[in-house]
Amino acid sequence: MEEQVKHRVFIALGSNLGDKHKNILDAVNYLIEEGVDIRKISSIIETAPYGLTEQPSFLNCVIEGYTELSPRKLLLLLLDIEKRLGRVRTIKWGPRTIDLDIIFYDDLVIDEPDLKVPHPDMKNRIFVLKPLVEIEPDFVHPIFKKSVKQLLEDLEGKSK
Ligand code: AMP
Repeated sequence: MEEQVKHRVFIALGSNLGDKHKNILDAVNYLIEEGVDIRKISSIIETAPYGLTEQPSFLNCVIEGYTELSPRKLLLLLLDIEKRLGRVRTIKWGPRTIDLDIIFYDDLVIDEPDLKVPHPDMKNRIFVLKPLVEIEPDFVHPIFKKSVKQLLEDLEGKSK
């Protein structure tokens, strides 16, 4: 049998509705059930809401995993897990039981209308960069050619 190549992916998880901690753990378990080989899980951090600020705070974390799924199949899996956990898409940036984003997929760059990798907003999001730096500080962004640690320092410098 032909051996499938596994791809290294980083996925950001966020929840600000219901039992936020459980939502994150359920999503991690679904990913494992669906064959994503999770190697690292960051701390779960609490962050202020992004975009729409009049909503509950978020819990966020980032995982590193290995998968045979193509980027598009991985996106479909994430959307399916969001659905299974009861996410109803209402307003942009509104409260959500779970939000799952592909941050990196190997060092691939994808620019399609409904799939952009690396995630285009990651460089502006402390709640993605902080957990990423905790688990893989030297990972180099394939477009900016900077480590995630450097991106976090740049962002923290800007917000001072
Ligand atoms: P949101 O409502 O912010 O979670 O946006 C979800 C939509 O963003 C999905 O339906 C995807 O088609 C699109 N999308 C584009 N790039 C990504 C990515 N890297 N990870 C997850 N979703 C993405």
